[in-house]
Amino acid sequence: MTTAKIFGIARHRLTVDGEGVTTLVTFNGCPLRCKYCLNKTSWDMAKGRDYTPESLFEEVKIDQLYFLATRGGVTFGGGEPLLQKEFIKEFRALCGNQWQIVAETCLNVPSEIVEEMNGVLDGFIVDIKDTNPDIYLDYTGKENALALKNLEWILQHGDPKRIKVRVPHIPEYNTDEDVAKSVERLKAMGVVDIEEFTYVIR
Ligand code: SF4
Repeated sequence: MTTAKIFGIARHRLTVDGEGVTTLVTFNGCPLRCKYCLNKTSWDMAKGRDYTPESLFEEVKIDQLYFLATRGGVTFGGGEPLLQKEFIKEFRALCGNQWQIVAETCLNVPSEIVEEMNGVLDGFIVDIKDTNPDIYLDYTGKENALALKNLEWILQHGDPKRIKVRVPHIPEYNTDEDVAKSVERLKAMGVVDIEEFTYVIR
Protein backbone atom coordinates (compact mmCIF):
# COMPACT_ATOMS: atom_id res chain seq x y z
CA MET A 1 0.00 0.00 0.00
CA THR A 2 1.37 3.41 -0.96
CA THR A 3 1.39 5.95 1.85
CA ALA A 4 2.90 9.39 2.30
CA LYS A 5 3.26 11.89 5.09
CA ILE A 6 1.24 15.01 4.38
CA PHE A 7 1.56 18.06 6.59
CA GLY A 8 -0.97 20.38 5.01
CA ILE A 9 -4.12 20.50 2.89
CA ALA A 10 -5.26 24.01 1.94
CA ARG A 11 -8.56 24.31 0.08
CA HIS A 12 -10.06 26.99 -2.15
CA ARG A 13 -6.90 28.59 -3.46
CA LEU A 14 -7.90 30.69 -6.44
CA THR A 15 -5.31 30.91 -9.25
CA VAL A 16 -2.48 30.93 -6.68
CA ASP A 17 -0.78 27.72 -7.64
CA GLY A 18 -2.45 26.61 -10.80
CA GLU A 19 -5.45 27.40 -12.94
CA GLY A 20 -8.87 27.82 -11.28
CA VAL A 21 -9.70 26.65 -7.78
CA THR A 22 -7.04 24.40 -6.33
CA THR A 23 -6.31 22.45 -3.21
CA LEU A 24 -2.67 22.53 -2.15
CA VAL A 25 -1.40 19.27 -0.67
CA THR A 26 2.03 19.43 0.96
CA PHE A 27 4.25 16.38 1.42
CA ASN A 28 7.07 15.87 3.87
CA GLY A 29 10.58 15.32 2.53
CA CYS A 30 12.83 17.66 0.56
CA PRO A 31 16.32 17.27 -0.98
CA LEU A 32 17.16 20.94 -0.34
CA ARG A 33 17.84 22.93 2.81
CA CYS A 34 16.92 26.48 1.78
CA LYS A 35 17.97 29.06 4.34
CA TYR A 36 14.60 30.86 4.38
CA CYS A 37 12.43 27.76 3.95
CA LEU A 38 8.90 28.46 5.19
CA ASN A 39 8.09 24.75 5.46
CA LYS A 40 10.89 23.43 7.65
CA THR A 41 8.33 21.04 9.15
CA SER A 42 8.57 19.24 5.83
CA TRP A 43 12.21 18.31 6.54
CA ASP A 44 11.16 15.99 9.36
CA MET A 45 9.85 12.76 7.86
CA ALA A 46 8.40 11.74 11.22
CA LYS A 47 5.95 14.66 11.15
CA GLY A 48 2.70 14.93 9.22
CA ARG A 49 -0.24 12.62 8.86
CA ASP A 50 -0.19 9.35 6.95
CA TYR A 51 -2.36 9.25 3.86
CA THR A 52 -2.96 6.76 1.10
CA PRO A 53 -3.92 8.06 -2.37
CA GLU A 54 -7.43 6.76 -1.63
CA SER A 55 -7.79 8.56 1.72
CA LEU A 56 -6.50 11.79 0.21
CA PHE A 57 -8.88 11.48 -2.74
CA GLU A 58 -11.82 10.90 -0.39
CA GLU A 59 -10.92 14.05 1.53
CA VAL A 60 -10.24 16.44 -1.34
CA LYS A 61 -13.06 15.34 -3.67
CA ILE A 62 -15.43 17.54 -1.67
CA ASP A 63 -14.27 20.32 -4.03
CA GLN A 64 -14.71 18.35 -7.23
CA LEU A 65 -17.45 20.68 -8.53
CA TYR A 66 -15.17 23.70 -8.14
CA PHE A 67 -12.30 21.89 -9.83
CA LEU A 68 -14.42 20.90 -12.81
CA ALA A 69 -16.09 24.31 -13.17
CA THR A 70 -12.82 26.27 -13.10
CA ARG A 71 -10.32 23.80 -14.61
CA GLY A 72 -8.68 23.56 -11.23
CA GLY A 73 -7.57 20.58 -9.24
CA VAL A 74 -4.82 19.58 -6.88
CA THR A 75 -1.39 21.14 -6.58
CA PHE A 76 1.16 18.96 -4.85
CA GLY A 77 3.84 20.86 -2.97
CA GLY A 78 6.08 20.28 -0.01
CA GLY A 79 8.73 19.53 0.66
CA GLU A 80 9.37 18.01 -2.73
CA PRO A 81 6.32 16.31 -4.24
CA LEU A 82 8.19 14.51 -7.02
CA LEU A 83 9.75 12.30 -4.34
CA GLN A 84 6.22 10.84 -3.97
CA LYS A 85 5.76 9.75 -7.56
CA GLU A 86 3.94 6.48 -6.87
CA PHE A 87 1.49 8.27 -4.61
CA ILE A 88 0.77 10.94 -7.24
CA LYS A 89 0.42 8.35 -10.01
CA GLU A 90 -2.11 6.40 -7.97
CA PHE A 91 -3.93 9.59 -7.06
CA ARG A 92 -4.15 10.51 -10.76
CA ALA A 93 -5.67 7.11 -11.51
CA LEU A 94 -8.35 7.85 -8.90
CA CYS A 95 -9.23 11.40 -9.92
CA GLY A 96 -9.03 10.86 -13.69
CA ASN A 97 -7.95 13.41 -16.26
CA GLN A 98 -10.53 16.11 -15.59
CA TRP A 99 -8.74 17.46 -12.55
CA GLN A 100 -5.60 19.46 -13.22
CA ILE A 101 -2.69 17.98 -11.28
CA VAL A 102 0.29 20.28 -10.85
CA ALA A 103 3.53 19.89 -8.90
CA GLU A 104 5.35 22.74 -7.18
CA THR A 105 8.88 21.41 -7.44
CA CYS A 106 12.54 22.35 -7.26
CA LEU A 107 13.24 19.71 -9.97
CA ASN A 108 16.39 18.72 -8.06
CA VAL A 109 15.47 15.04 -8.15
CA PRO A 110 16.65 12.11 -10.32
CA SER A 111 15.83 12.67 -14.00
CA GLU A 112 13.97 9.34 -14.30
CA ILE A 113 11.39 10.66 -11.85
CA VAL A 114 10.90 13.90 -13.77
CA GLU A 115 10.62 12.07 -17.09
CA GLU A 116 8.05 9.65 -15.71
CA MET A 117 6.00 12.36 -13.98
CA ASN A 118 5.97 14.52 -17.10
CA GLY A 119 3.39 12.11 -18.49
CA VAL A 120 1.29 12.19 -15.33
CA LEU A 121 1.17 15.89 -14.44
CA ASP A 122 -0.66 18.69 -16.23
CA GLY A 123 1.82 21.32 -15.17
CA PHE A 124 4.87 22.28 -13.18
CA ILE A 125 5.53 25.28 -10.96
CA VAL A 126 9.30 25.29 -10.72
CA ASP A 127 11.08 26.97 -7.83
CA ILE A 128 14.41 27.51 -9.57
CA LYS A 129 16.01 29.68 -6.80
CA ASP A 130 18.88 31.15 -8.85
CA THR A 131 20.53 29.77 -12.00
CA ASN A 132 23.98 30.80 -10.72
CA PRO A 133 25.47 27.57 -9.28
CA ASP A 134 27.36 29.33 -6.48
CA ILE A 135 24.31 31.25 -5.27
CA TYR A 136 22.17 28.12 -5.46
CA LEU A 137 24.69 26.05 -3.52
CA ASP A 138 25.10 28.72 -0.89
CA TYR A 139 21.36 29.10 -0.45
CA THR A 140 20.16 25.49 -0.71
CA GLY A 141 23.21 23.39 0.20
CA LYS A 142 22.97 21.55 -3.15
CA GLU A 143 24.20 21.97 -6.72
CA ASN A 144 21.73 23.07 -9.39
CA ALA A 145 23.02 21.30 -12.51
CA LEU A 146 20.44 18.51 -12.18
CA ALA A 147 17.54 20.93 -11.68
CA LEU A 148 18.51 22.88 -14.82
CA LYS A 149 18.97 19.68 -16.83
CA ASN A 150 15.52 18.49 -15.76
CA LEU A 151 13.99 21.85 -16.63
CA GLU A 152 15.55 21.70 -20.09
CA TRP A 153 14.12 18.19 -20.56
CA ILE A 154 10.54 19.07 -19.64
CA LEU A 155 10.71 22.17 -21.85
CA GLN A 156 11.64 19.94 -24.77
CA HIS A 157 9.00 17.31 -24.03
CA GLY A 158 5.68 19.14 -23.98
CA ASP A 159 4.10 22.57 -24.22
CA PRO A 160 6.34 25.13 -22.45
CA LYS A 161 3.15 26.98 -21.39
CA ARG A 162 2.47 24.24 -18.83
CA ILE A 163 5.62 25.25 -16.93
CA LYS A 164 5.76 28.29 -14.66
CA VAL A 165 9.22 29.12 -13.32
CA ARG A 166 9.40 31.23 -10.19
CA VAL A 167 12.55 33.32 -9.72
CA PRO A 168 13.00 34.74 -6.23
CA HIS A 169 14.88 37.78 -5.07
CA ILE A 170 16.61 36.20 -2.08
CA PRO A 171 17.75 38.80 0.46
CA GLU A 172 21.49 38.52 1.16
CA TYR A 173 21.94 35.73 -1.41
CA ASN A 174 21.26 37.26 -4.82
CA THR A 175 21.04 40.76 -6.28
CA ASP A 176 18.61 42.28 -8.78
CA GLU A 177 21.34 41.78 -11.37
CA ASP A 178 21.61 38.08 -10.50
CA VAL A 179 17.83 37.72 -10.86
CA ALA A 180 17.94 39.49 -14.25
CA LYS A 181 20.65 37.04 -15.36
CA SER A 182 18.53 34.08 -14.26
CA VAL A 183 15.53 35.44 -16.15
CA GLU A 184 17.62 35.97 -19.27
CA ARG A 185 18.99 32.43 -19.09
CA LEU A 186 15.56 30.92 -18.52
CA LYS A 187 14.13 32.78 -21.50
CA ALA A 188 17.01 31.52 -23.63
CA MET A 189 16.14 27.99 -22.52
CA GLY A 190 12.58 28.48 -23.78
CA VAL A 191 10.71 29.29 -20.56
CA VAL A 192 7.68 31.43 -21.43
CA ASP A 193 6.04 31.83 -18.02
CA ILE A 194 8.38 33.46 -15.50
CA GLU A 195 7.33 34.98 -12.21
CA GLU A 196 9.69 37.13 -10.17
CA PHE A 197 9.00 37.63 -6.48
CA THR A 198 10.79 38.45 -3.25
CA TYR A 199 11.20 36.10 -0.34
CA VAL A 200 9.77 37.37 2.89
CA ILE A 201 12.09 36.56 5.80
CA ARG A 202 10.27 35.64 8.99
S1 SF4 B 1 12.75 23.50 -1.76
FE1 SF4 B 1 11.04 24.40 -0.62
S2 SF4 B 1 10.55 22.95 1.01
FE2 SF4 B 1 12.58 22.41 0.23
S3 SF4 B 1 13.99 23.45 1.59
FE3 SF4 B 1 13.64 24.79 -0.17
S4 SF4 B 1 11.96 26.13 0.41
FE4 SF4 B 1 11.99 24.41 1.86
